[in-house]
Amino acid sequence: MKRVAVFGSTGSVGTQALSIIASNPRRLKAVLLACRSRIDALRRQIEQFRPSSVAVERPDDAVTLRREYPGLNVYCGKDGLNEAAQAEQYDVMLNAIVGVAGLEPTLAAIAAGGRGRTIALANKETLVTGGRFVMSAAADAGAAIVPVDSEHSAIFQCLMGNEGNAIRRIMLTASGGPFRGYSSERLRTVTVGDALIHPNWKMGRKITVDSATMVNKGLEIIEAKWLYGVETSKIEVLVHPQSIVHSLVEYEDGAVMAQLGFPDMIVPISYAFSYPERWATDVRNIDLISLRTLQFDEPAGETRRSLDMAYRVMRESEEGGRDSAAIALNGANEVLVRLFLDGRIAFVDIIDTLERVLDSHNSRSVKGIDDIMDIDGRARESALSFVGRRRVALL
Ligand code: NDP
Ligand code: MG
Repeated sequence: MKRVAVFGSTGSVGTQALSIIASNPRRLKAVLLACRSRIDALRRQIEQFRPSSVAVERPDDAVTLRREYPGLNVYCGKDGLNEAAQAEQYDVMLNAIVGVAGLEPTLAAIAAGGRGRTIALANKETLVTGGRFVMSAAADAGAAIVPVDSEHSAIFQCLMGNEGNAIRRIMLTASGGPFRGYSSERLRTVTVGDALIHPNWKMGRKITVDSATMVNKGLEIIEAKWLYGVETSKIEVLVHPQSIVHSLVEYEDGAVMAQLGFPDMIVPISYAFSYPERWATDVRNIDLISLRTLQFDEPAGETRRSLDMAYRVMRESEEGGRDSAAIALNGANEVLVRLFLDGRIAFVDIIDTLERVLDSHNSRSVKGIDDIMDIDGRARESALSFVGRRRVALL
């Protein structure tokens, strides 16, 4: 029986993880649930899964939950979230928090859990901002990081049995999002509603917007670099609108391994729990005969700029050990996506402003977690100042 701590339990990945836990009662037990403020959803989860502890953001929610569930251990606030990650007893942390807020709990889980603890990592922002620290902390502690992001789970599976063999290329697939093939003119008029309709995946709002701008794929290039130690010059992006091939690895001898399947996050989440085993799911079969064609294209158009930004920040990291630009890219993006979702900026402002933030950023090496949060905060300020004081005042 694996004891699971679900961070981000009320979100898209978190709820799917809980459905897997519910289907495997003899293998998995949810012992800790953490969310931000969707307390009604958390209440239903407490009643269904009976965890020993929960973590929430607001003190008044914590007071209410303590009153409603005597015996439940309730953590609260940012410090409470980290304390829960550190103090609780569990075997697997599923980190499905959104944003850089997921970084500190990951580090706390690694430091406290040591050998034998698994971090099932959906929160890609953990690696984008703290990849160097997280990977070395996990290696020192003997903790396993198992990716949940579908492309990285695919790569993880393609690497299996090939330890020590040289990689020619990693090919990350991208659906291309809802605006694939749009001209820059047409992108100027897209709405929040348009951006939130993803052709193949149903996900949280932030990652859905990131998929539309292709910033998500940029973050995934960085995520793959840290997970697998492959230089970013060997990581390519292929636009694959059907989302059936989840990613590919090409070896030195020319052999290419790929992982395919119906696009459903249940598969990578379940695998992060079951690895190295596979457990049955009810995910649909792929029907290659009815599909007939799998299409692959080069990334093109405006959103290609998001990939270029990821390569640019990783050149700073790989050539000079300067990781701050990736942190700035991520922090600025988080704030810009929020502004877009709140109707304060246009879709095209996201990529334009990210480029301006990077142009004005002096990249440097990073000292530790406090430094990461400081660079993140400055990048948010920088993004806000570029979009204009008036909109900042409205926040
Ligand atoms: P959602 O927005 O659906 O869910 C986010 C979860 O995190 C919610 O439970 C939310 O709580 C909680 N949360 C947010 N901020 C905080 C905070 N500061 N402290 C504590 N809890 C917090 O996101 P997704 O599930 O879509 O994505 C989660 C992560 O997984 C992201 O990093 C994303 O990039 C990655 N990912 C997601 C995929 C998907 O299919 N959705 C696919 C691949 C990767 P509350 O509900 O209370 O706000
Ligand atoms: Mg992905």
